[in-house]
Amino acid sequence: MVILKFGGTSVRDAEWINKALEIVKSQLDRAPVMIVSAMGKTTDKLQEIAHLAEKGMREKADNIFQDLKEAHFSVIHSFLTNENLSSCLAAMDILFIELKSIIKGLSYLRECTPRSNDAILSFGELFSTTIIAHRAREIKIDTAFIDSREIIKTDDQFTHAVVDENVTHSCIRGKIKPQKGKLTVAQGFIASTKEGITTTLGRGGSDYTASIIGAACHAEEIQIWTDVDGIMSSDPRIIPKAKTVAEISYKEAAELAYFGARVIHPSTIQPAINLGIPVLVKNTGNPQSMGTRIIANGEGKDRSIGLLKAIAFKKGITIINITSYRMLLAYGFLRMIFDIFEKYKTSVDLVSTSEVSVSMTIDNTSQLESIEKDLKAAGNVSVENNLSIICLVGQGLWRDPQILSKVYGALDSIPIRMISLGASDTNLSFVVPDNEAENTIKCLHKVFFE
Ligand code: ADP
Ligand code: ASP
Ligand code: MG
Repeated sequence: MVILKFGGTSVRDAEWINKALEIVKSQLDRAPVMIVSAMGKTTDKLQEIAHLAEKGMREKADNIFQDLKEAHFSVIHSFLTNENLSSCLAAMDILFIELKSIIKGLSYLRECTPRSNDAILSFGELFSTTIIAHRAREIKIDTAFIDSREIIKTDDQFTHAVVDENVTHSCIRGKIKPQKGKLTVAQGFIASTKEGITTTLGRGGSDYTASIIGAACHAEEIQIWTDVDGIMSSDPRIIPKAKTVAEISYKEAAELAYFGARVIHPSTIQPAINLGIPVLVKNTGNPQSMGTRIIANGEGKDRSIGLLKAIAFKKGITIINITSYRMLLAYGFLRMIFDIFEKYKTSVDLVSTSEVSVSMTIDNTSQLESIEKDLKAAGNVSVENNLSIICLVGQGLWRDPQILSKVYGALDSIPIRMISLGASDTNLSFVVPDNEAENTIKCLHKVFFE
């Protein structure tokens, strides 16, 4: 069997849904399982609805609700007929009535807990898969519809729930029966607790769903279908001259994803690595293009060692500096600092230390005040905001003796605040001011790829 995951950009309207289904149809003999995201920007709009409901702004929430309803129903009317049309309309009516009552309830209460937030966001994928399953039947594809909440089981960390792999794998194997000539459609992103309460896997999480199901079913391949020709040398929205990377290792792809290349979700890679399942990233709008093949670490051509594959960036980074003379010749100091970050469940990306100071970057500042307060017991603390991490990814980059001089040469007027090379063997990362991030990427791309 093969997994085909279509992101929101790939199912944004009737035309793209048809393209996606053409791709699936051409692989029916591989027992395809299709994992689908919410259409276009639906999840963002649902998020807006949730915020408005929390503020009690029911009328504004209802307006967005109405827009979403009209957009989905106009797709339905454009390509469904007879019993497919009536069955789809009936199913969608039920979903929209349910969503409307949730919005009404939350607006009255003026609250939106993470649990309610997940309930609202889950509708995007329920809408898209309901429409797509009906369209598939309309074009004579034998189609099974699965509710992912019955197969992906998580804890109750709403908005970024953690998957219980054992339970999930057995649910998947019990419910999904891939078969040649038959299509299975399921939602990405959504899941549920063991009590059946709806959860989500975090924004962009549909890739992860694809990978979990792929691992449980021992898929021969996982295909991530998006709106660009694979993983590119940089974000093509910023660098129009970005080139497709033909082959990239799991490790390189994970670094890129983690440091901001939205094209693939970082967690996607892990279940696939464990079983050595190849992951392909392809363009729904241009299926002939080869796309990117994500291969096992260490596989592929030796000549790619030391070669820069791509540049990613992540904005909104904060640096925390701690200076303490107690650190001089002392041990256990770093552990004490990291314990504080662990206590507040905040992950640190880059670290740089000298004899008496440590600098660290974080992107989640929700616990910053408490972290700062605890850190003050260890030394002087200062915080710098509005920064970006720029991440150059490539296996064994440090083996290129010119790498740093090339980077510094490309960025002669941009201040580099912090730098890390060699920690992971696959990346060179550094920090620049937020307002220099795009310029930095452009300068680097020119030097390394153009
Ligand atoms: P989907 O709807 O398929 O999940 P996303 O919007 O999440 O799509 O991801 C695709 C987008 O990722 C592309 O349109 C592109 O702008 C962005 N992107 C960022 N960095 C890269 C990169 N290095 N290679 C390809 N795309 C990238
Ligand atoms: N629809 C969800 C989101 O927009 C999940 C996804 O697209 O992967 O985050
Ligand atoms: Mg995505």
